[in-house]
Amino acid sequence: MKYYSTNKKVSGVSLKDAVVKGLAEDKGLFMPDSIKTLPQSFFDTIETLSFQEIAYTVADAFFGEDVEAEALKKIVYETLNFDVPLVHVDDNIYSLELYHGPTLAFKDVGGRFMSRLLGYFIKKQNDTKVNVLVATSGDTGSAVANGFLGVEGIHVYVLYPKGLVSPIQECQFTTLGQNITALEVDGTFDDCQALVKSAFMDEELNAKLKLTSANSINVARFLPQSFYYFYAYAQLKKSDRADNVVMCVPSGNFGNITAGLFAKRMGLPVKRFIAANNLNDIFLQYLQTGKYTPRPSISTIANAMDVGDPSNFARVLDLYSGSHVSIASEISGVSYNDEQIAETLRTCYKETGYLLDPHGACGYQALKDRLTENETGVFMETAHPAKFLETVETIIGEKVEIPMRLQEFMKGEKKSLALSSDFEVFKRYLMTI
Ligand SMILES: *Cc1c(COP(=O)(O)O)cnc(C)c1O
Repeated sequence: MKYYSTNKKVSGVSLKDAVVKGLAEDKGLFMPDSIKTLPQSFFDTIETLSFQEIAYTVADAFFGEDVEAEALKKIVYETLNFDVPLVHVDDNIYSLELYHGPTLAFKDVGGRFMSRLLGYFIKKQNDTKVNVLVATSGDTGSAVANGFLGVEGIHVYVLYPKGLVSPIQECQFTTLGQNITALEVDGTFDDCQALVKSAFMDEELNAKLKLTSANSINVARFLPQSFYYFYAYAQLKKSDRADNVVMCVPSGNFGNITAGLFAKRMGLPVKRFIAANNLNDIFLQYLQTGKYTPRPSISTIANAMDVGDPSNFARVLDLYSGSHVSIASEISGVSYNDEQIAETLRTCYKETGYLLDPHGACGYQALKDRLTENETGVFMETAHPAKFLETVETIIGEKVEIPMRLQEFMKGEKKSLALSSDFEVFKRYLMTI
């Protein structure tokens, strides 16, 4: 399969190059030349298949031409060694719990898949070491670092803003050691991102080092997210609820929902999608006006969705050939402020006993507000509530149990290297690695 750029000045790129480069040279995002439709027989029997079997079928449609069957199967099975249960919450609403992976957030799926695919290409071609630079405000860093932990031929540098990530998040990438280095930047998340961007553009650095990024612009991180949409459908089918399915996705950079749109394009019978936003509702405004107007992000309690210029919007546009009418006919949008998110979380917990995290709360509320009687709604529960411990405990007025896996991280010794936000200092450091 070849990949083209959403800016249309680059095409015919191999999977390996698309994964290693991350972003196309014309600054566009890579898209596969074609999206295969899966056969009806697959959907007829999908409820009899395991998550890994379903995922492998989907992965084969995307990557089968470029990765040998056995290797691809291994990548899929290693990535998905945890369950993604569909839990009934109330009425016709289900939660797809995407948080049972190593860092308790859905980004584990893409992080692990990408690390193994990149590792596969490097090993196969005996390539020089690849350095992954990732700026994080919390969750991306932990998922990417844990995904890449111990993968040969790759070293990960996580840049995070000093004092601005939660202690739980911080310990998930500062205690790992091995091929993971945490860089504590004296600045904001934007400073971290600016350092990474400058590094990618610096000629001297790129002549010396192979640098790549691991955020959701990378095809190897974002495409595998389509796996669990199929699995959600399979689980609904098992309980005879697979008609008129509405998928609702708490969205920030729109990588997750775009993977869902790809799944639909492959034939998955989803009636429509809802993009749930916090106050950063640029997409909703696009749906309402037909104009895309990015603006600086506002900070909210669902902070993984504090994005003012969603990078995967370019992919959504491309998928629908730029047609606002087509986009608005398949996707609707909602936006909630912090008070509404807190109220949803509190009420849902009180009335159903189900504990949401602030991101999942946006998804749940969107279904409460928008689902019609004959529809079945699934929202993506993107993170474990304990990842947002203080926020969630304050809202419900109770202690939240911290899963063992998180507690293990918290026992580790924090190791990080302090950096200023000055690019020259960062560059000098990279020149010595
Ligand atoms: C990253 C993240 C999101 C947003 O996902 P996108 O793919 O960027 O739209 C939502 N919730 C949580 C918990 C996240 O970590």
